[in-house]
Amino acid sequence: MQTIRSITKMQKAAKQLAARGKTIALVPTMGNLHEGHLSLVKRAKKSADVVIVSIFVNPKQFGPKEDYKKYPRDEKNDMARIKKAGGDIVFIPKAIDIYPDNFQTYVTVEKLSKTLEGKSRPQHFRGVTTVVAKLFNITRPDIAVFGAKDFQQAIVLKQMTRDLGYPLKFVIAPTVREKDGLAMSSRNRYFTAEQRHQACCLYYALRTAQEMVKSGIKDVRALKGEMRAVIKATSPKAKIDYIAFTEFDSLKPVSRADKSTICSLAVRLYNVRLIDNMRL
Ligand code: AMP
Repeated sequence: MQTIRSITKMQKAAKQLAARGKTIALVPTMGNLHEGHLSLVKRAKKSADVVIVSIFVNPKQFGPKEDYKKYPRDEKNDMARIKKAGGDIVFIPKAIDIYPDNFQTYVTVEKLSKTLEGKSRPQHFRGVTTVVAKLFNITRPDIAVFGAKDFQQAIVLKQMTRDLGYPLKFVIAPTVREKDGLAMSSRNRYFTAEQRHQACCLYYALRTAQEMVKSGIKDVRALKGEMRAVIKATSPKAKIDYIAFTEFDSLKPVSRADKSTICSLAVRLYNVRLIDNMRL
């Protein structure tokens, strides 16, 4: 496995691979990798000759009050895990190279960036789309793999890929969960054992909605009410940011849920903001 830290070297390597007829898959990450990330690497390996995993804690997608500085970083472990999962190149650019002095060009997906997460995190998706566009330009992937865990992010990036005409296959891979249902996330490590247990409230609420829809209760107001009750019972301290029922690709809200509806929610728990979602 090769580690590349320079943008020019990465561009050269990608060009050489393409010239040799090799297909490239890109898995963008912010590091501190867990099984969720590694499932994307394994998925990428199935569809391309060479898998590039980028590790970049992107300052532009964190708000001023968010955890950019304390975001967990663990490069050595990440490398070992990527190698084991079948990654071929780890690309670790520096922030100053991605955003040189006087940087002023951004990529924005206008509508989809404004709802759900976008309401609480106004500049977040602009940061995500800008960095992923740069990563696409540098690595020229034939396929890019993202996790359904960050469902809106995947939809926003899919739209960007389409709008800007990147010639790549866009894959959204399923959310990997802990045994108790908690979606794997780098931020789970901020919790004590007791808090960590309460973090399952998102999963319990989503499963409740899923079961209710299966049993024929489709009114979104009723579903939301029950989800709120489940969250309160599991974690009385949890603060719900939003619970949303939307169409999958358009993110348009629906008033009646069905199998094609996606339910997503954001909950703040002991100062950690958690998100999760489920297709109903
Ligand atoms: P991050 O490092 O948090 O930016 O995540 C990098 C990629 O991993 C994104 O495409 C995420 O959606 C994906 N990811 C994060 N957690 C999970 C998970 N539990 N299951 C599947 N994919 C995930």
